[in-house]
Amino acid sequence: MSERGYILVGHDGTQALAGLDDALAGEGYKVRSVGDGTTLLSYIASQNPDLVVVDESIREMAPVEIVRHVRHRVGSRDVPLLLTSSQPQGDDAAAAIRAGATDYIRKPFQVGEMLARIASHLERGRLIRESRREADTSGIVLEIVRDVTASLSSEEIFDILVRRVSRLFQIRRCSMILIEEGGERGTVVAAHDDPSISALALDLTRYPEIRQAVETGAPVLVKNLKGSALFEQIRPLWETENIEIDIQSIVAIPFTFDKNQHGVFFLRSNPDEPALDEESVRLTSAIAQGAVRALNRAATFESVLSHQEQLEILAKTDELTGCLSRRYLMERLENELERAARYERLLGVVMFDIDDFKRLNDTHGHTTGDAALRSIGEVLRRSLRTADFVGRYGGDEFLLVLPETSAHGTHQLAERIRNGVSRREFDLRGGTLRLTVSGGVAGFPDADVISLEDLIDRADEALYRAKAAGRNKVITFSSEMKEESKSKQ
Ligand code: GH3
Ligand code: MG
Repeated sequence: MSERGYILVGHDGTQALAGLDDALAGEGYKVRSVGDGTTLLSYIASQNPDLVVVDESIREMAPVEIVRHVRHRVGSRDVPLLLTSSQPQGDDAAAAIRAGATDYIRKPFQVGEMLARIASHLERGRLIRESRREADTSGIVLEIVRDVTASLSSEEIFDILVRRVSRLFQIRRCSMILIEEGGERGTVVAAHDDPSISALALDLTRYPEIRQAVETGAPVLVKNLKGSALFEQIRPLWETENIEIDIQSIVAIPFTFDKNQHGVFFLRSNPDEPALDEESVRLTSAIAQGAVRALNRAATFESVLSHQEQLEILAKTDELTGCLSRRYLMERLENELERAARYERLLGVVMFDIDDFKRLNDTHGHTTGDAALRSIGEVLRRSLRTADFVGRYGGDEFLLVLPETSAHGTHQLAERIRNGVSRREFDLRGGTLRLTVSGGVAGFPDADVISLEDLIDRADEALYRAKAAGRNKVITFSSEMKEESKSKQ
């Protein structure tokens, strides 16, 4: 097997995934293409591929059926399984994911992104398989590793690790320290409730246990700090500086990730807490090992995708406004639209946009602008019923989605929100301000709405009319607008 991994690709051999096989081979993967479902399943069972890509064009079996088979077989249940499809509304995306597909990629895809996804899923698959093997005896380790592998940001991985590990050993002091070049200074990148090292920068000459871990590359266990020779040189310093050390035992696990970034997983217990011992070292080392793979993966991810893309992928929530992120919003809307089409249900959307927001930014500054966005986000979220959702579509645009609601009903709700906003005084950073919003409503079913884009275009067109009509208005899309915008083209 090639070192980078063995990938099975199921497609009908024509142009279905043009270029992917070659691109994968070019990356050093061993690739094998299979045209039909039966052969694919038999290869998965006998050849233990590291990852499988199944295109909609595969013969004999539906991709979702293949997913079910693979997930039901014990030997293949962890293999990453990526589906590719050009279905505009992703008819089977939800079903495939529910059946256990690892990812669902729409065609045409960008080869670079596809390769990044494959690399990332491969690493995760490997990690889960290896962890399953290594950690058979300690389910908790697997659980923690699984937690961190779900994350693609190193910051979040560090944070999860310190929280989970301090809970595991019932100790308060647990932190993650990155070592700077030269090994004399460290930076605390995550700390669980450890006031004694809340300072971000650490002078490592004061932490001989950390230095030893870094220098030897091996775990350091101090069972009893009082009698430990490791601290001989530093003890007089504690005395002259009158520093009371209430620590009993210490574990420092060194690790290296992203090629040459060194770090130490640093655990300390005081006399009232359970003492750290060889078992703590063993478990923490296993967790650190798993974490390193996740960190490498995060490093790849962080370097391959732009910051914006990462944020979108990582967060389902828009950080500033608390509404759904655009990516997740679109995903949910696509599902809703699909559902509405399939079961012949109603669906309403409103595109809201803050009026003259640029001027607000210019007059009061961006921070006040941000506060205004946050407030509008909150108003919108509060106005929703259970099945509704709202996401930040872009800058000062928000999209409200109302399942089971007619265009008329949607208009009424939008109008209520608009009116509420216009009557309110917003408390923004010490001062009060008036804001208004305009809204464009579009509804489904509509003879011409077949895709997400159609629906959003209509809401957008209606919003444009609301702005043109003087702002602080809600307008619902009508077929006359359609005629007009057609004749304009
Ligand atoms: P209109 O009534 O036509 O909507 O006028 P407008 O000034 O609101 O125009 P538009 O919607 O095109 O402008 C959006 C502005 O929102 C442009 C951009 O500077 C600002 N903006 C986008 N994102 C943010 C953000 O996250 N924070 C802040 N403070 N401003 C943002
Ligand atoms: Mg605006």
